[in-house]
Amino acid sequence: MVKFDKLTVPAEGKKIEIKGDRLNIPDNPIIPVIEGDGIGRDIMKATRRVLDTAVEKTFNGKKKIVWFDIYAGEAAQAKYGEVLPKDTFEAIKHFIVALKGPLTTPVGGGYRSLNVTLRQVLNLYACVRPVRYFEEVPSPVKHPEKMNVVIYRENTEDVYAGIEWAEGTPEVKKLINWLNKTYKLNIRADSGVGIKPISITGTERLIRKAIKFAIEFGRKSVTMVHKGNIMKYTEGAFRDWGYKLATREFRDHVVTEDELWSQYDGKVPEGKIVIKDRIADSMLQQILTRTDEYDVVATPNLNGDYLSDACAAQVGGLGMAPGANIGDFIGLFEATHGTAPKYTDKDMVNPGSLILSGCMMLEYLDWREAAELIYKAMGETIRQKRVTYDLHRLMEGATKLKTSEYASAIIENMG
Ligand code: NAD
Repeated sequence: MVKFDKLTVPAEGKKIEIKGDRLNIPDNPIIPVIEGDGIGRDIMKATRRVLDTAVEKTFNGKKKIVWFDIYAGEAAQAKYGEVLPKDTFEAIKHFIVALKGPLTTPVGGGYRSLNVTLRQVLNLYACVRPVRYFEEVPSPVKHPEKMNVVIYRENTEDVYAGIEWAEGTPEVKKLINWLNKTYKLNIRADSGVGIKPISITGTERLIRKAIKFAIEFGRKSVTMVHKGNIMKYTEGAFRDWGYKLATREFRDHVVTEDELWSQYDGKVPEGKIVIKDRIADSMLQQILTRTDEYDVVATPNLNGDYLSDACAAQVGGLGMAPGANIGDFIGLFEATHGTAPKYTDKDMVNPGSLILSGCMMLEYLDWREAAELIYKAMGETIRQKRVTYDLHRLMEGATKLKTSEYASAIIENMG
């Protein structure tokens, strides 16, 4: 058993175990939970109530999440004197699946974002963002209900790797001189320079995850979104390695878009997933104009950043967008918004993003029926126009609920 400095593991509950390439989920898994700063307290309370009730109702009390409070951000500062204590990393590594509220990024030198640090230290290489529409949520497009995508965004490479040199520094001068001399280039002397690494390792593990998800959840296609026409050896390679991986490791499950036309006259054979690719700029148009032709998306870091928010906007904004950061096994499920400090402890904000992240977590545990119950109940609550302030101000004839009341309304709608 791992030893923690200042944490006491709950007496009831069991640890999730890794068996081969799968997780073995007990009926009462111990799930570490970081409440988070700011609005974290309010939305985590609401989320735990909704998840607990859904699990209880779905499995008639035979299954239960055993929550295990761990600390990051301000709460960790108060308890440990540091914002990200070793206990927190150890607990997530040991118990594998965790839920997390938003964390303040301390302003000023010395800190990287806590969220980024958690992802890097735990090697959570896939940022997963499902985007779906809930009826009645105000949207800027005519058919928001056509959107139902799950974006797998690479989380560790690309221009986000943090390899950059500022203009004018001795380092950048040395680099520019070397590049210009060695490769006969003409990089301007007054440039800053960044490096964009994209590897076979990083690409394959991400696309493998996206395809496995598509198979397990019966999705129709996986689209690789890249800018390979311009950046051939990074983004283009991402696409090429992706096709190779798909046909090498998942041959029985997939058909490429080329094969679809050359061998199947454009008709998808029963049970097959179509592997296709789109150039990023074209994808940003197509997701608007041919929304329902896209399903699972796998993409390098920067494209994924743009595309996730663009898709979320189409179904009514970031307020209800859930997310997860996932590694080989570890899954950290978290809201996509921040701590909204001015609403701290006001019992006012929308817990939707964190509740839906909790649903992703239930699906990760393969407790899909419980997640479905929440999707239905939340859908019903929004259809009844019983919503928190953020949606209330955009919806005509809606009833404004507090965070806690909204959670109660969802629970009531579970029947
Ligand atoms: P924010 O997402 O916290 O808030 C921006 C605005 O969005 C809020 O003022 C509020 O009007 C609205 N909003 C956010 N969440 C909402 C909800 N659940 N319901 C209703 N309205 C909501 O972004 P910010 O103000 O730029 O950042 C505040 C802090 O959060 C910063 O310290 C930042 O570093 C941190 N942050 C953390 C995460 C994370 O933990 N994943 C993500 C983004 C920002």
